[in-house]
Amino acid sequence: LREDPSFWMENNVQVVIRVRPLNNNEKNTQSYNRCLKQESAQSITWIGYPETRFTFDHVACETVDQETLFRVAGLPMVENCIAGYNSCVFAYGQTGSGKTYTMLGEISDLEARPSPHRGMTPRIFEFLFARIRAEEESRRDENLKYSCKCSFLEIYNEQITDLLEPSSSNLPLREDTRNGVYVDNLTESEVGCVSDILNLLTRGSANRRVAATKMNRESSRSHSVFTCIIQSRWEKDSTSNLRFARLNLVDLAGSERWRTSGAEGERLKEAVNINKSLSTLGLVIMSLVDLANGKQRHVPYRDSRLTFLLQDSLGGNSKTMIIANVSPSVCSTNETLSTLKFAQRAR
Ligand code: ADP
Ligand code: MG
Repeated sequence: LREDPSFWMENNVQVVIRVRPLNNNEKNTQSYNRCLKQESAQSITWIGYPETRFTFDHVACETVDQETLFRVAGLPMVENCIAGYNSCVFAYGQTGSGKTYTMLGEISDLEARPSPHRGMTPRIFEFLFARIRAEEESRRDENLKYSCKCSFLEIYNEQITDLLEPSSSNLPLREDTRNGVYVDNLTESEVGCVSDILNLLTRGSANRRVAATKMNRESSRSHSVFTCIIQSRWEKDSTSNLRFARLNLVDLAGSERWRTSGAEGERLKEAVNINKSLSTLGLVIMSLVDLANGKQRHVPYRDSRLTFLLQDSLGGNSKTMIIANVSPSVCSTNETLSTLKFAQRAR
């Protein structure tokens, strides 16, 4: 894997494929056959008809651990925020492909640091707080001071719920010239160390909808967005400077096609809305790639809650990291192909 951060800074949108290991269930059945073959650190072949080779910024195979993935996909985003730019990390993929493992790690392990299974989010904040201390130290003459506050929300069926205050649901999105796009009444919690973050993650995750029926149905249908606003303040030539950077860590709804046939009423509306948020995200990212290549494109930020909310962090000088999670088992071959295709279009 290439770990040179300067490489990452060249393009505004980066795509990483992460292949999870086979689970015990898959190992014990026919499903141990693989539908993927890694070719290099950047390319992977889907074994099917027709056999198709894909190239990405990175392909993280089954043996790539959480620390390595963080260094490749998380660390550059922290550096980007320290430099004053907004960043977004998305985990994309079908339910069960490893999105939450990638972003959070095993939730029960969160408090038991330093667990090797802890995911991107705790590692990002360990690194961020260390970088902040180093920056403040090195620019003491400018009296540089950082402060960070976090929010944690869920978008379910195009409605926003505050995961830190779950009685606040269907919060409105607003936009003004001073604040840009923001969620009205969203809890923002001051954070100063990793245990503050773990606290918020544990609280928020416990509040994420748990399915009553069928394979985690409800929580797999929602997007969760953990945001940190990093404020820095310093003095230079007797003027006071203030800067903000946003870091957004997004665990997307499962990308599998929700069957709309037979669904009615709320169920149908839900299926349509979930497809809408994900497909709009895809369209926004593809428009941004076209813009970067000099083509004129309208970017349809306003077509979904998710993309409208993240408008100020997608495009412009912002950096976007898409981690597309896939299962290597033949029993997921169709979903794996569709994730690879989505990820391909984002490049
Ligand atoms: P998703 O959030 O996409 O639905 P999960 O993150 O919950 O999927 O992963 C499904 C299961 O697979 C979990 O038990 C998780 O611990 C395991 N898993 C996923 N990715 C990995 C990985 N890279 N290494 C080890 N276990 C993983
Ligand atoms: Mg999940």
